[in-house]
Amino acid sequence: MARNAKQNQNYKLNVLFIASEAEPFIKVGGLGDVAGSLPLAIHKLKADLSNYPDVEIRLVIPFYEKIRSKLEAVHKIAAFNVDSINGPVLAEVYQSDLQGMTVYFISGEPVTRSSAVYGRDFKSDAEKFIFFSLACLHLPQILNWDLDILHVNDWHTAISAYYLTLLRSKSTQYRKVRSVLTLHNLPFMGTGSEEALVLYKIPPAKNKKLPSWGKQLPLPMGLSSADMIVAVSPTYAQEILTPNYGCDLYDFLKTRKSQITGILNGLDTLAWDPGTDKYIKKVFSPENLTAKYQNKLALQREFKLKESKEIPLLILISRMDPQKGVDIAIEGLKQLNDVRFQAILLGTGDPSLEEACRKLEKEMPEKIKVAITFDSELSHRMYAGADILLMPSRYEPCGLAQMIAMRYGCVPVARATGGLVDSIVDVNENGEGTGFLFSSADPESFSRTLLRALSIYKEKEIWKKVQRTGMVQDFSWANSAKKYVDLYASLMKPTSDKTGQG
Ligand code: ADP
Repeated sequence: MARNAKQNQNYKLNVLFIASEAEPFIKVGGLGDVAGSLPLAIHKLKADLSNYPDVEIRLVIPFYEKIRSKLEAVHKIAAFNVDSINGPVLAEVYQSDLQGMTVYFISGEPVTRSSAVYGRDFKSDAEKFIFFSLACLHLPQILNWDLDILHVNDWHTAISAYYLTLLRSKSTQYRKVRSVLTLHNLPFMGTGSEEALVLYKIPPAKNKKLPSWGKQLPLPMGLSSADMIVAVSPTYAQEILTPNYGCDLYDFLKTRKSQITGILNGLDTLAWDPGTDKYIKKVFSPENLTAKYQNKLALQREFKLKESKEIPLLILISRMDPQKGVDIAIEGLKQLNDVRFQAILLGTGDPSLEEACRKLEKEMPEKIKVAITFDSELSHRMYAGADILLMPSRYEPCGLAQMIAMRYGCVPVARATGGLVDSIVDVNENGEGTGFLFSSADPESFSRTLLRALSIYKEKEIWKKVQRTGMVQDFSWANSAKKYVDLYASLMKPTSDKTGQG
């Protein structure tokens, strides 16, 4: 690609990046982080890299009520109809700007019907996101914009990659458009979408290799159509081809193996910087790790734990969800009752896991403290103060917490899965590495690996080396952005024969 670009200085790529949520406008989960940061990082690459194609990336998200009520600099630029069996459904396009990048919001009755980004009613969500996905596909025509790449994310917008393949045969404007589907989480496929697909006249997928149950499900339909599928880490890209992680789609995904790749997500390194963090007691750096311990003492004080630099302080910051292996951590910590450590568990979610955390706190009151809440500022104080992050995920497409922890000199003990494998280097006997990985998702493997970490923790100089190595890793979005631009460019090569099938 770069060669291509160098040969042709005017080489331009127009990219429409569509998602169900994006920071700073609206964020519910990790997808919001990515959809806020990645397009912006790609937008900013222009200034940094003169021999890259000139990428114009525009972001589109639904115009939720919460965005409408807080956004002032926004104006309506277009209105058009999306076709349905009940007649036309009006879509309105609003435009704003994020640090020089164009952002569109799409409104319409299916979007405004409920105030939630993701509601409890699957059918209503399906209608909202299918309407939104189809409306996005109108944008190149409405805006008279020569689109090259349609970049969609997860099940919510996957259907537009599918519908694009239908449009290609009907319209010259769409023939050359290539699609990229970023897969953040395979298990969420868009259950309950059948009626909405019929409503918006979207035929079932014809791909014979797709299991019949996937022919009317947005994510499998998108996976069968996208020109390129990007998992959010290289290891997750491999794992989804196996029975354990492939959610009954692994055989089908194997048929698309050459169109599947993995690109590790980045981290907002400005928001997560121990050198400037305004939420922590004392800023610190790899050169000044001593200052980190003031954060540790402050955190111990805050949680009424014994104030001591020596006692290893562990944290878990996570959705309380079986995916995250919170139960593995709880059982594993119980097995270490005789070992000296302290742990603070922060999270909300599954009531039974929340309860199990509270129970553990009661059983081990000197050691364990629990905060059942979502508190971003507290999470900053915890990353800054703690020695070890616990992340025993059953599966982890990418994971952010381990990257944040490493930046704050908080060493991860994590399960060797997905993005954890791609971002953590297991510490060897010479103390080289950035964390401690274990393979099997069970409390014994977890506690054994935690003991390994705790024994290295006692070797102060080796431990500092591990902390410093983690702190200087480059997890910036610019890295991922360059890889995505390479991918876009490879799809635009005239020889590119990566067209999905629908
Ligand atoms: P996922 O997106 O699967 O939940 P990630 O590790 O990718 O997991 O990202 C989780 C993010 O949410 C991290 O930034 C983590 O610090 C934050 N987080 C999770 N739970 C909480 C909580 N209870 N309070 C504050 N921040 C939290």
